[in-house]
Amino acid sequence: MREGEEGMQQNQLLMIPGPTYVPPRILSAMSAPMINHRGPEFQAMYREVQEGLRTVFGAQGDLVIYPSAGTGGLEAAVANFFSPGDRVLAVTVGVFGDRFATIAERFGLQVERLTEEWGRAADPDRIARRLAEDRTREIKGILLTHNETSTGVANPLREIARVREGHPALLLVDAVSSLGALELKAQEWELDVVAVGSQKALMIPPGLAILALSPRAWQAAEEARLPRFYWDVLAYRKNFEKQSTPYTPAVPQWYALREALRMVAEEGLPAVYERHALLGEMTRSGVQALGLSLLAEAGRRSDTVTAVRVPPGVAVGRLRQALREDYGVVVAGGQGKLAEEVFRIGHLGCISPMDILSTLAALELALSSLGHPVHLGDGVAAAQKVLAGRKAR
Ligand SMILES: *Cc1c(COP(=O)(O)O)cnc(C)c1O
Repeated sequence: MREGEEGMQQNQLLMIPGPTYVPPRILSAMSAPMINHRGPEFQAMYREVQEGLRTVFGAQGDLVIYPSAGTGGLEAAVANFFSPGDRVLAVTVGVFGDRFATIAERFGLQVERLTEEWGRAADPDRIARRLAEDRTREIKGILLTHNETSTGVANPLREIARVREGHPALLLVDAVSSLGALELKAQEWELDVVAVGSQKALMIPPGLAILALSPRAWQAAEEARLPRFYWDVLAYRKNFEKQSTPYTPAVPQWYALREALRMVAEEGLPAVYERHALLGEMTRSGVQALGLSLLAEAGRRSDTVTAVRVPPGVAVGRLRQALREDYGVVVAGGQGKLAEEVFRIGHLGCISPMDILSTLAALELALSSLGHPVHLGDGVAAAQKVLAGRKAR
């Protein structure tokens, strides 16, 4: 590590779509001493965490909490609910939708991909038509990314959930970059499986994957024949009444989750959603005022991550480097085929409007220094206007 690098990191503004900034309150909660994971202290924490998660997911019953990256949650969502050869409809509009589909293929499912051009959202009517054609009910599951982090698109989850009507397919949702930032109501919207990772809007370090299941999903898990052991939700269910987990839980991560859920309760879930809507709108207004264009189609732009096309003549790598080295602002690059085309600003979790203003100010300076003509202050001013408008309401 170069001298001073550690100090730099302390002052870095981390504006990537996960891992996100972890507030000091959560970091200090994580440094508590270890406890017996089969003892009464853990049981008390288990109850509090489950109660908090039910609120944030809008779910019933206990949730399954794995020590894992978010992708483990996606694998669990595939492994637990199907049998070899089952057909699933994978709705994919970017990198994470593709990943969900690939997991299902590896598990030997018949995967039918319903794709859209990157930057566009999934179309509820197309999904409705495909389900209507499926008169023999071959499709056992629909895999859907709520918020496609690679393109900055928020899919219309509630509408898609509705178009299933009488079709029995389970709806499995990757909500890794949306839960706790964008509205999601598992029970009311009849989502069967909702998978989440800890390091995005939930504001805690990487290391937990969480699954919320509907009663229909629990039933499917009992009938499903795909092999699984570590991911088996039924092993978790056996431990629910003991307020425990089948294998050693990531105790420090649980401390963090408990603290994060307290923070969400203090701010209030509606206020959390409103703050993210504000951050999203400020970011979009700011970058557009600089003459930059957004990848995502209008009306479906995510309030947790914004994918911005780099202007001609500016290399993504150079822009990100200037932001990081000269201004201490860290943004993400593009993923997959978008690697050279976009950079992404994450604005989820413990992020404030002032963080957006700082990011835009740095972006203006970095673009200028790379010879791209911008009028300093235009992006910041546009975002300020959004903020002032919200405050005035
Ligand atoms: C981050 C992310 C994931 C994967 O999370 P990992 O913890 O990196 O495995 C999956 N889906 C979406 C939509 C994400 O944003």
